[in-house]
Amino acid sequence: MKNKLLFSVATLSVVVAVSAVELKSLSSQVDTSLAVQQVNWAENVEISINKDDNSFRFQSNGIPSHGFAEKYLIPNDVMSMPFSDNAADEFTVVKSAEYFKETQIDTTITTQPTYVTDTTNTSLGRIGVAITGAQIFNDYEDMERSITALDDNVVHDHVPFVDECNGHTLVNGTNYHYHGIPLCVTDSLDVEGQHSMMIGVLEDGFPVYGNQGINGVTVTNDDLDECSGHFEATPEFPEGIYHYHLTADEAPYMINCYHGEVSDSIKHGNHGQGGPGPDFSAVADQLNVSVAQLREALGQTMPPDFDKAAKALGITAQALRDALPPPQ
Ligand SMILES: [Zn+2]
Ligand SMILES: [Zn+2]
Repeated sequence: MKNKLLFSVATLSVVVAVSAVELKSLSSQVDTSLAVQQVNWAENVEISINKDDNSFRFQSNGIPSHGFAEKYLIPNDVMSMPFSDNAADEFTVVKSAEYFKETQIDTTITTQPTYVTDTTNTSLGRIGVAITGAQIFNDYEDMERSITALDDNVVHDHVPFVDECNGHTLVNGTNYHYHGIPLCVTDSLDVEGQHSMMIGVLEDGFPVYGNQGINGVTVTNDDLDECSGHFEATPEFPEGIYHYHLTADEAPYMINCYHGEVSDSIKHGNHGQGGPGPDFSAVADQLNVSVAQLREALGQTMPPDFDKAAKALGITAQALRDALPPPQ
């Protein structure tokens, strides 16, 4: 009887503790600066914490510290995605040592992320940075979100389009990025039976993890909210924090919306210098409209309503699609 009573008291306190975590995370300001400072960033990453404006600056050469596959498949025509399974002639095999180029990554991210109810779809291009110096992208290869990189992966004679770390570069050899759990990182970092370790930060400031939840239980999309996140204690935030999990069971593998507050430039994916986000001025030039007209027509949502935007610009939806960034 006594044992039973003790047990129920213990259960009750666990429940209270969990709600306290949620309440705390929702109502009070979290601060990630200590965790960001302590994370084991690769040697090619420079982190500077700015206590005055509660942010940190991430700079790297964009080359993942775990290295590359020896060779990659680079599509001859990016617009021909999704690729057929056995069409070797759709690709050129490149040697990464010769083809891949450094990319100066420089982004400033808040250390006081704010959880908001309204979510914002992530854009093409960088949506976060990883401890390896490489970038985190969302699931998709195209602005319309019709092609999921991992589901459309192709391997010919052991040469991959997306490598075994779930990453690859853009077709020009720059901007190495992940479209799935960076297994080359999590395999060595995560400990069996424990929650995954922080492997990066999204542009909204919330941390990103592999797919091990509390006690190392595999996290699937069913365990997470619409942005692949949840409130929970993590190794770096024992008090609990809203955080994202990359998953391996099925799409979405990545983070397709932010649950944190983001600026307009992050919404459009053209934040920061050298970022691979859509170059609106080039698209506007091509369509013979102003950048302001283009932005207004495309609106604030990702993906944009192409038909509506084309109508507003007085062009065909096809012309607009053709002018927008190719798959990545
Ligand atoms: Zn978690
Ligand atoms: Zn890609």
